[in-house]
Amino acid sequence: MKIGFNADDEAFRQTVAAWMEQHLKGDFAPLRFRGGPGDEHSFPEERKAWERLLASGGWIGVGWAPEHGGRGLSLSRQVIFHEEYARAGGPGRMGHIGEGLVGPTLAAFGTTEQQARLLPGILAGTQFWCQGYSEPGAGSDLANVKTRAVLDDSGEHWLISGQKVWTSLAHEADWCFVLARTEPGSSGHHGLSFLLVPMAQASIRVQPIQQLTGTSEFNEVFFDQTPTATANLVGKPGDGWKIAMALLGFERGVSTLGQQMQFHNELDEIIRIAKDNGAARDPILRQRIAQAWAGLKVLRYNSLRMLSGPQDGSLRKEAMIYKLAWSTWHLELGKLAMDVLGSEAEILDAGPYALSRLQSLFLFTRADTIYGGSNEIQRNIIAERALGMPREPRLRG
Ligand SMILES: Cc1cc2nc3c(=O)[nH]c(=O)nc-3n(C[C@H](O)[C@H](O)[C@H](O)COP(=O)(O)OP(=O)(O)OC[C@H]3O[C@@H](n4cnc5c(N)ncnc54)[C@H](O)[C@@H]3O)c2cc1C
Repeated sequence: MKIGFNADDEAFRQTVAAWMEQHLKGDFAPLRFRGGPGDEHSFPEERKAWERLLASGGWIGVGWAPEHGGRGLSLSRQVIFHEEYARAGGPGRMGHIGEGLVGPTLAAFGTTEQQARLLPGILAGTQFWCQGYSEPGAGSDLANVKTRAVLDDSGEHWLISGQKVWTSLAHEADWCFVLARTEPGSSGHHGLSFLLVPMAQASIRVQPIQQLTGTSEFNEVFFDQTPTATANLVGKPGDGWKIAMALLGFERGVSTLGQQMQFHNELDEIIRIAKDNGAARDPILRQRIAQAWAGLKVLRYNSLRMLSGPQDGSLRKEAMIYKLAWSTWHLELGKLAMDVLGSEAEILDAGPYALSRLQSLFLFTRADTIYGGSNEIQRNIIAERALGMPREPRLRG
């Protein structure tokens, strides 16, 4: 399938742009270009209100199937929506984990009861989610998950005990999807289950972690015999690994194009500063800016190629290179921003952590090559699964 934009699509582009212009103003004007990775702590309540407004305009779940309450827009129009959203400076989406990860996962693996119960809150912009995968001993080696869940005596609840870490937005979330070991004595990919857990419970403790940027957008999350109803198990006991991996596949979805538009905004700001402060006259910096621009074009074409494949959570070869490609590109952009700013890059406007957007960009890009699978792990995936090279020795199956 090829992605192209016809005249009707371009009219749709105008509709999205006009909606954004009409709504991202007044009380919502301060949200322009705010939120998102590295800035998630900003305006949480206002961004939740923005989610509700988006929902009222029918702009959540634009790519979801109509039977799940979505608009069922064509891929081209989804691309347009995400591009125009980011072009207008639409704030980082508080609901992106629900909309981009949980929704497609429930559509693929959830029961009709789970879909009917949980998808409407995502679509309405009223229910927010976080991802409970990583643990102190289970990051790259995710199959080492130790958090366990056992059925209580009534057989109606799973009781979860253990610790998750780096859980983004757990402090804002209503629900967490938790990868937990439900088969005692199991190891590796086996015996894991995918559980949905309401966060408003006394037996859950959320402990913020301060980041390099001085802010806290991720957390440690402790579960102490935390109950969740058996109706909140997705798939069967033991299906957890399969579902967890499919969910990660959905991460490479259409919103990647919106992310690229944000990168575009950042590059534009760097170019503007380079012109203002004379850095653009430096031949090396000029060359690096041109390389950044070309690299962004390559990311876009790769994304379009990736999105032309099936959107079922399977990881095709184009998708396997994408995380490594964008995170490495973005890391270089952070360095370029600092070099363009020159000595100004080292000056804070007001006190510790009063970071400018580009200073924050530089610091947060350190995390880009870690979360969602580190660059080293991405290279292993490419070597083994795309290129068919011998598997790295592993301690377990
Ligand atoms: C900003 C941010 C947000 C995050 N949000 C979430 C979230 O919401 N939910 C969640 O569950 N997790 C989240 N994470 C966690 C993230 O998924 C993990 O940090 C990541 O998987 C790496 O795991 P780790 O931190 O345990 O590092 P480790 O796995 O301990 O790795 C340490 C280093 O060793 C390298 N390494 C490990 N294994 C190999 C290998 N086999 N070959 C070569 N090198 C290797 C890694 O590349 C890395 O450089 C987030 C992380 C960050 C930075």
